[in-house]
Amino acid sequence: MTEPADTADGMVYLVGAGPGDPELLTVKAKRLLENGDVVLHDKLSGPNILDQIDADRLEDVGTRGHGDTTPQSYVNERMVELAREGKTVVRLKGGDPTVFGRGGEEMRYLADHGVPFEVVPAITSAIAGPEVAGIPVTDRNHASTVSIVTGHEDPEKAESAVDWEALANTGGTIVVLMGVTRLPDYTNSLVDAGLAPETPVAMVERATWPDQQVVTGTLDSIVGAADDAGIEPPAITVIGEVAGTRDTALEFLATTYE
Ligand code: SAH
Repeated sequence: MTEPADTADGMVYLVGAGPGDPELLTVKAKRLLENGDVVLHDKLSGPNILDQIDADRLEDVGTRGHGDTTPQSYVNERMVELAREGKTVVRLKGGDPTVFGRGGEEMRYLADHGVPFEVVPAITSAIAGPEVAGIPVTDRNHASTVSIVTGHEDPEKAESAVDWEALANTGGTIVVLMGVTRLPDYTNSLVDAGLAPETPVAMVERATWPDQQVVTGTLDSIVGAADDAGIEPPAITVIGEVAGTRDTALEFLATTYE
């Protein structure tokens, strides 16, 4: 076991920011954001949350220079360095810290370096994104399973880490994160694997941000619809019967986001 490092009470909180609306922060996240010495954030935390934090406590570790992604090793080292200076570090991540958020990697790194940490769970965009657009990810009449998968695959990889054929056979709801660029690939894979081309699909861009955008279609029309609407990351893709129930919810769905 690693001996605790001499952190002089420094501590790291791996905090989920939720999907972006500041009112969807947990009470604990809000308290830590108000009191933490340094907030290391990525670009998914949402402008309205970041605007409420004094600029001198904010460090952007999401993008650097010309939009390049900050290497994970830099983020890891920076967390340890600040904790060893005795700082209370808030590592703020969009959505929930462990849903495709490298929260697990960061926990292991901190543990390996003897830095005390705590994880603060949050609302993931995988569920909140569809939900605020009027789409429940499960529904007694339409879906008893929900699979949350990544649409972003390393182009170098010969085989997809996501088994689209198995997903097509499982039925239920499929929620794809990081799924804008490869939308044509996985919608095709799902149809090839036997899902009906008319299976409903919705995409929710910048869910709960002030400029949220939703497009709907089917497996064979969503690529065109997303293109026409100019959908860009970050966006959630939700595939399955539940995506087709949105129209009935819409009549009375009051949303402050669109
Ligand atoms: N930890 C995050 C996910 C990080 S992966 C969470 O739990 O939500 C990054 C992907 O999350 C994006 O590509 C997008 O698919 C999704 N995402 C995160 N925030 C979003 C938002 N506000 N609206 C739509 N998609 C979002």
